[in-house]
Amino acid sequence: MDASLEKSLNDQIKHELDSAHLYLAMAAHFEAENLPGFARWMQLQSNEERGHAMRIYQHLSDRGVRVALSAIDAPPASFGSPLSIFEAALEHEKKITGLIHSLYAQALQVADYPAQVMLQWFVEEQVEEEKNAGDAVHQLRLIDGNPAGLMMMDRQLAARTGE
Ligand code: MG
Repeated sequence: MDASLEKSLNDQIKHELDSAHLYLAMAAHFEAENLPGFARWMQLQSNEERGHAMRIYQHLSDRGVRVALSAIDAPPASFGSPLSIFEAALEHEKKITGLIHSLYAQALQVADYPAQVMLQWFVEEQVEEEKNAGDAVHQLRLIDGNPAGLMMMDRQLAARTGE
């Protein structure tokens, strides 16, 4: 594998694990705020992110490329309103989308076809990730801090299933 693509894919493992850590911290915040549905949604999101890291891990391993792990970023120590949390999640996913697109461009440049195929899954997944976070932001703007609305959304988010 091209050395710079190898480094970028290893970096992406870190970014996906950063995401897992960020969403787990958001889950812990929602647990403390007695919003168990929001907490469950964030826990499942965190699990998904670890799954993303493992997809790249497995791709590198399957191709005989050494996986190099690095330190995970510390999540914020405190969080604000549910709306601000989902706005931060949406911004985070947009950043990840940019990284995935750069990776794909890099895989094209060095004609790494297996990496392109692997990354296509991520390109699609990011469309879904931005939609999910964006939908929640939209719903929270409508709720506008209304407690009954938040309780209803909490029940709705509790219904998320793992995949
Ligand atoms: Mg991800």
